[in-house]
This record gives sequence, structure tokens and C-alpha cells, in this order.
Amino acid sequence: EPLIIDTDIDKMIKQVESNANIKVYKSAKVEKTDGQPGLYDVTISSNGASETMKIGSIVMATGWKPYDASKIDHLGYGKFKNVVTNIEFEELAKKGNGKIHRPSDGKEAKKVAFIQCAGQRDPNHLPYCSSMCCVTSLKQAGYVRQNPDAVAMIFYIDIRTPGRLELYYKEAQNNPGIMLTKADVKAISDAGNGNLYVEAENTLLGEKIKAEADLIVLAVGIVPTTRETQEYQDGLTLAASKGDESKKAYLESTPKPESILNLNYRQGPDIPSLEGAYGFADSNFICFQYETRRTGIYAAGSVRQPMNMMEAQQDAAGASFKAIQCMDHIAKGVAVHPRAWDETFPDPLLIRCTACKRCTEECPFGAIDEDEKGIPFYKVNRCRRCGTCMGACPERIVAFKDYSVDIIGSMVKAIDVPEDGFRIVAFTCENDAYPALDTAGINRKNIDPSVRFIPLRCLGGMNLVWVADALSRGIDGVLLLGCKFGENYQCHFVKGSELANDRFGKVGETLNRLQLEAERVKILQVSISDYDKLPGMINEFAEKIKEIGANPFKGF
Ligand code: SF4
Ligand code: SF4
Repeated sequence: EPLIIDTDIDKMIKQVESNANIKVYKSAKVEKTDGQPGLYDVTISSNGASETMKIGSIVMATGWKPYDASKIDHLGYGKFKNVVTNIEFEELAKKGNGKIHRPSDGKEAKKVAFIQCAGQRDPNHLPYCSSMCCVTSLKQAGYVRQNPDAVAMIFYIDIRTPGRLELYYKEAQNNPGIMLTKADVKAISDAGNGNLYVEAENTLLGEKIKAEADLIVLAVGIVPTTRETQEYQDGLTLAASKGDESKKAYLESTPKPESILNLNYRQGPDIPSLEGAYGFADSNFICFQYETRRTGIYAAGSVRQPMNMMEAQQDAAGASFKAIQCMDHIAKGVAVHPRAWDETFPDPLLIRCTACKRCTEECPFGAIDEDEKGIPFYKVNRCRRCGTCMGACPERIVAFKDYSVDIIGSMVKAIDVPEDGFRIVAFTCENDAYPALDTAGINRKNIDPSVRFIPLRCLGGMNLVWVADALSRGIDGVLLLGCKFGENYQCHFVKGSELANDRFGKVGETLNRLQLEAERVKILQVSISDYDKLPGMINEFAEKIKEIGANPFKGF
């Protein structure tokens, strides 16, 4: 039986389509995603009809598109008919039921060259490894070798076949009709009669080679389906930062790509991108697989990061479990994640709201909209209970039942302030800095005994009034221990620490008003792995405070 028929995908499609609990929409587009986890209203158009339905949670598994090979000038795609991509080769093999007929004249291809990293790991094209193309070419070389008279040549930078796939690679190495060599392919040129030369340097033979092939396959890489919208959005943000004129010119000159989910969120219709992630859908790969910055929406498969089919299947299972967990928690009325099972939620005293919109703008998860008067309207199921809105509110009217400006303020007031000694308070992020302190303790690292720690859900919830209270009570120094700045997901809540830092631009006014030294307040960026450095950082601050001297408010 031809090797090409080696998956059970048709069987799986039939199983899914015949399952009464699964509805499959083909040629479909998501027109709008409104609402919140557990209560999404999703409008889907398919084959001329449109339908809006209630959806609990969403897995976005829209996959990838092949990189446009015509952008790689020296590999001849678009110039020579017998240069095809790995996707096109798969179709050729399927059409020929195992036999490979080349496009130019339908002749059976008996000498097929595969060029690996056709654009991948190249800063001018796709700077990342696409993960699946080496093993795909090894598999496709097997298609060629179904004809014992045919040979396959694979030109690679490195073959990347981790884990058990290494055995698959070894099998190809032992196949007498498969030649594998490390090489920098410099050019594809015409060899006449539809044949082509692969011109390569730095091969394992140590010399330049010019190999003739009757068909060339470019192992092109993965471009996530989210890339276009993210590039558009990034371009728009950049243009907007240069002023209204520049934004207008961008909007007029740049065609708007189709959004995948068409989210009705104030932060825009798409899942946000992550800095330096090449347009792959935002998913918190450090701490929380699959989660995006939109609660209840999970990214899975190669839209999230390059992967092969086996990994994509595992991803699908993982993301589906997250989606089920989300609905379960929503049904129980508790937070989904990362503060899973939290029964409280932000409950602003709206009678005192000035409609300043700071909470709506600073919520990292799009959980707050506003009504026509600018009064915030919380979509609680989107909320992750970080408390950033509590820290943002200048009126101090946002509070949780067990977490509020007053509750933390009472903790500050309860700290014993010795009249003849020093006291320092450290407001500490409970996700990174606090566990780092725990580990420092387990490792018996010494921390200056004058320091008292108050855990915060996120430094984004930090309120200036706590600093003012602490200093006016005679506490000698205030530390803020938050996570690293930037959107690279040191922060559980995207960028709470950075927001706190921005707000603390104003701490100088408070210190001035109290006629205190600016050095008495400091923000430190700490990651969970900094447990060995953290005691030293804290002790250095304590030493500095002792140098400055006691807070003159002590004892009043
Ligand atoms: S607690 Fe955090 S996620 Fe929830 S509404 Fe406030 S800022 Fe948004
Ligand atoms: S930050 Fe406070 S005052 Fe401003 S809109 Fe939100 S709840 Fe109202």
C-alpha cells in the first residue's frame, strides 16, 4: 500500500461529524465574539447563513499557512516549474497515489532534492525553526523511495528530530537511496529538460557541489494565521504613536486583514501578540500553557508555536481541558485562573465614581467596559482578580471582599514601628517575589530583620496611599518587590509591575510633601528564580536606609 495513505484523518473527521454533541461549520467565519466566558455570544456565518449562539469557552486552533517561497529569491520558486513547496509535494504524492509526477511535464520524478530551512532560521524570512519540516522531508523522502529506482537528496543546516523521531532519522540515514548532507544551498539553476541543479557549499564532503535533480522540494516553514492581524495591529500602534496624521495615513494605505475571532473587546478584535513571538498567538508559555490574555479563550496547536501533528494533538487535548475547566469554574461562580477558585470579585462603589476610565484602560484582560456616561461596567467572568483596577482607581473605590485599599492599609497600620530601631515594609508580589523569599528562607539566606513583608496579588494593585501611610507612621523605608518589566510574561497579570512603576512617578510628590528623601522608596524587579540574589538586594536597601537615618516621623 502506498506510504502516503498512512493517517486515519478521514476516519477521525467522520467520527467528529457524526457526534451529536459536536457541530461542525465549514467555510465558516466568526463574525463577532461578544460577551464573556460562560456567556459568549458568537456569531458564525457559513455558506450564506449566519447564526448567533451561546458559547462557554473557545479554543483557537487556526493553525498556520506556509511561508511564501517566492520571497526566497535564490531558491527559484516561481521561476522554475519543478521547484515546489513541501505542501505542494504532499499533494503531488497524493494525486499520483504514491508515484511522483513533476509539474512541468508529468514525468515521474526519480531524483528529488529537498532543501531544508527554506526561509526558516533566517532573519530575513522566518527567524525561527518551524519544528515540523525536517521530519516532514524525511517522510516525503520515503514517498520518493517507494520507487526503488528513485533517490532522494536532503540538504540541511541541521536535522532537528528530537526524542523518538531520532530513530526515524536513523532509518532514513540507513536507506541507501536517501542522501543526507549538511549544506548551505546557494542557488538553484537550470540543468535543461526541466531538470535543475542544486548548488551548495559547506557540505559534509567539504567541497562545493552541484547536484542534478528532476524535482526540488522546498521545506518551507510555518507562518501562524494570527501573524497578519498582529502585524497590522503593531503597525497601527506604531503609526498612532506618531500622531493622528500618521495613524490616518496608515489606515488609508494598509489593507485590513480579516480578524479570526472578531472580539468585541476595547483592546481590539484579536488575541494580542507577544513581543518577539513572530506573530504567534499570545499564550503564556512560561507559566500557563494555552491561556491567552482573553480569559476563556485558549490558543492550541501551531497558531501558538511551531509544532508537528503529534504535538498539535497533545496541545488540542490540553487546551480542551483548559476550556472545560473554565466552564466548570464559571458555573460555580469562581475565578477561572490564575487565582482559580477565588470567590471574590472587584466590586466598585460606583456612587463615588468620577468616570475617569483609569480602571477600564488599565485592566490587562479587557474585563471592564464603560457605559455611555463613562461609568465602568465589569464583565466579571473575564476578570482574573489581579486588583490592577483597585490600584488604578484614584478614588479608591474598587475593592474585593477580602482585598482592598483599607485591608492592606490596616496591615500597614498593624506593623510595629520601634522608636529606637529601623523598620522597612516590602509590598511583595505573591506570584514571583514572595515564592522567591520562601525559597531564600528554605536555603537559609539571611534577610535584615527590620523588614516586614505584605503580599499583594500583583503590584498593579499597589496604591500610593499605603506608601504615604507607612512613611507618615515612621516606617523608615518602603520596598516594592514586583516582577520584571516588559510583556515577556514574567508577570502573571501581564504588566502589573510596570504599571506600578508608572504610577510611582508620583511618589516623589508624596515624599516632597512629607519632606523625606527619595531613596526611602524603591521598586525592585524580581523573578521567582532570583531567590539567591533577593536577600542581598533587600539587605542593600536596608543598609541604605540606615545610612540615611531614621524617619523623622517616628514616634508621632
Ligand atoms: S481585578 Fe484585574 S482583571 Fe479583574 S477587572 Fe480588575 S484589573 Fe481587570
Ligand atoms: S478608576 Fe475608579 S473613579 Fe475611575 S472610572 Fe474606574 S471606578 Fe470610576
